[in-house]
Amino acid sequence: MPAKSPYDAVILGAGILGLATADALTSAGLRVAIIARDLPEDLDSAAFASPWAGANWSSFASNEKERRRDTITFAKFAEFAETNPSLARRTPFCYIWHTDAGYSNPWYKNVVYNFRPLAKSEVPKAYKEGVQFESFTVNPPRILAYLAGRLRDAGVPIVRRRVASIDEAFSAFGEVSLVVNATGLGARGLLGVEDPLVHPVRGQTVLARAPGVQTCYGVRDSNLPPGEAVYIIPRPGSDGCVILGGTNLKDDYSTLPRKETAERILQNAYKVCPALAGPHGTSWKDIEIVAHNVGLRPSREGGLRLEIEEREIKHDYLLPAAAASTPRKVAVLHCYGIGPAGYQASFGVAQEAKELVTGYLSKAQA
Ligand code: FAD
Repeated sequence: MPAKSPYDAVILGAGILGLATADALTSAGLRVAIIARDLPEDLDSAAFASPWAGANWSSFASNEKERRRDTITFAKFAEFAETNPSLARRTPFCYIWHTDAGYSNPWYKNVVYNFRPLAKSEVPKAYKEGVQFESFTVNPPRILAYLAGRLRDAGVPIVRRRVASIDEAFSAFGEVSLVVNATGLGARGLLGVEDPLVHPVRGQTVLARAPGVQTCYGVRDSNLPPGEAVYIIPRPGSDGCVILGGTNLKDDYSTLPRKETAERILQNAYKVCPALAGPHGTSWKDIEIVAHNVGLRPSREGGLRLEIEEREIKHDYLLPAAAASTPRKVAVLHCYGIGPAGYQASFGVAQEAKELVTGYLSKAQA
């Protein structure tokens, strides 16, 4: 029989949601261990989403719960910007559009700083209206490294292991009775979960060097091909790099960049912000390209799955019949399917995950 674990829970997955949840549980005094196929340092792996995000805080929340998560994370980013500006930076945002469907009245206008409509004279030619505010841009690789470092310092092991079924995670470090399933897109194929609602939304971007660009841009343009958008996200702590995007292609599993998409991204970004080409540049071809990137957002019909599922494990068929007749009661906290919002919702999701876990454990011990 596997030995009882020194840990209260195993976190399956080391993307932003697995790490932020591990951090919240550790801060609440729980002992956790992390296992994952891709580790936070695997910045070249297209098998998980977290290294490939832009990323910025520009909420898509459509209900109270999501707004709470995003608002909590906004406050955390504000703290980072003060104490560790290479993780997050307070940045001017400029959002413009040329149709009626713009961003003129987002729910978060009182969360971000200094929200205001652009004056007509400030709206670039070819666009109808725009707004300006300040929010946060973040550096995903640095946030992953920061959280992983904090966790390791707190004694949390982060170990590479791919599991085929969710049940395997319950005995990865001796027997635990709680596993956090933060497997992102992996939840679609993970045996015992096999969630058919999970699907990729492919995001192709270009990482460019443009130290002169300090504003984050977002453009609504209905002339773009379906599944394409225009955004520019300056990345803090990155020696003047910006992320130029990009695509949102549902059910597209290709992790290889496409040349024609990359060229369109560069052309569209240059139209909005010619400064990308540097002080002497005269065309999109003068933008200094650092890398062509593709990441698959772990999306889910109906949004994030964040709930506890109670299960029974019957893996003791090797034991004598008497022991085999008592299956072990365990619980999974599912935490996957956040889609395009993993960073901006991360610390709010982790707080909710912690509330669910501590509530469950105190009920189970009563
Ligand atoms: P993942 O990062 O995919 O991590 C999943 C983890 O589970 C990995 O460690 C993986 O190895 C592990 N795993 C899976 N299956 C198994 C298994 N069987 N056994 C063991 N381990 C397993 N978000 C924002 O908030 N703002 C943005 O501006 C933004 N921009 C983006 C731009 C692009 C181009 C892309 C691609 C994404 C963007 N995102 C943004 C979204 C964000 O990147 C994701 O929401 C987030 O990374 C999802 O994190 P996750 O932890 O849920 O999943």
